[in-house]
Amino acid sequence: MKLSYKERINNVKPVVVVSRCLGFSACRYNGQMDGCHLVDKLKDFVEFITVCPEVEIGLETPREAIRVVKEDELSPVRLVQHVTERELSKEMFEFSNEFVLNLPIVDGFILKGKSPSCGTKEVKIYKSTQKGSASVKGKGVFGDIVLEKFPGLAIEDDGRVKNYNIRQHFLTKLYLMKNFRVIKESMLIEDLVEFHSTNKLLLMSYNQKQLKILGSFVGRHGELNSQQVYEEYEKNLALALNKLPRYTSNINVLTRSMGYFSDKLTHREKEFILDTIEQYRESKVPFSVPLYVIKSNAIRFEEKNLINQTFFEPYPSELDNVTDSGKGLDK
Ligand code: SF4
Repeated sequence: MKLSYKERINNVKPVVVVSRCLGFSACRYNGQMDGCHLVDKLKDFVEFITVCPEVEIGLETPREAIRVVKEDELSPVRLVQHVTERELSKEMFEFSNEFVLNLPIVDGFILKGKSPSCGTKEVKIYKSTQKGSASVKGKGVFGDIVLEKFPGLAIEDDGRVKNYNIRQHFLTKLYLMKNFRVIKESMLIEDLVEFHSTNKLLLMSYNQKQLKILGSFVGRHGELNSQQVYEEYEKNLALALNKLPRYTSNINVLTRSMGYFSDKLTHREKEFILDTIEQYRESKVPFSVPLYVIKSNAIRFEEKNLINQTFFEPYPSELDNVTDSGKGLDK
């Protein structure tokens, strides 16, 4: 029996590459393991591929710490075990390039933040191997190669995903890109039409301009072949999800959604919903609060076109957790 669009996308778990020290092995330079709440939560929901680039290039655990060194603008990036002055650049560049090249299907990455190997942001790049050397912020060697090779995927570090908005964005992007990957396997235009229509409000909250461009590619399927349509759609989908949605865009989509059933509401009900949206605007409640209020009304009035929108549940609700210890990192 042919599975429906929903069954097909729900049957496939996202594939996530994760730094092995985030709950899988005590492989850090000091012989310890780190925890990551999101990684723990995702264990039942995704297929993990674990990697420890430093162990893969033959380093022992525990080991002397390593650092990224770039002497000046024109010098190459080096990876050095500074106490022993051991040069590890060649091994790490070779391993990283080969790893990303040979990866099977992958939908996202959760990497160890600030690591000279795995870090994707805020990694100390030293001017020299000397003790006390000045440093600037940059990327780890493996993390940089991952970012270059997979610019459209959900890639975050364990520090940043402690922030509610960043975590929500990461999960949304992870599931959206995974769902797109599933329908891309068969390249059916009817799947793309369904993908686009069920993600419409979500994409509107991310980027209205890109939503229009995406819609125009769906409409050009007579003129372009399926492969061309899918390729262009994928490129523009990545652009649409490039940045976190602004809260003003979320408010715009919440208000639009309310328009589906506002004529059926009493004056007091309307006021209550608008007040909930206002509280979100004033940062008194998280986004999930007005979202639930709108969703419950969509269910109450059986607004099918609204209930089906991924805007209300872009990823399994069991993964939701409104705690936030990310110190306002949502950039
Ligand atoms: S940060 Fe990366 S290289 Fe370092 S221990 Fe963790 S997985 Fe290994």
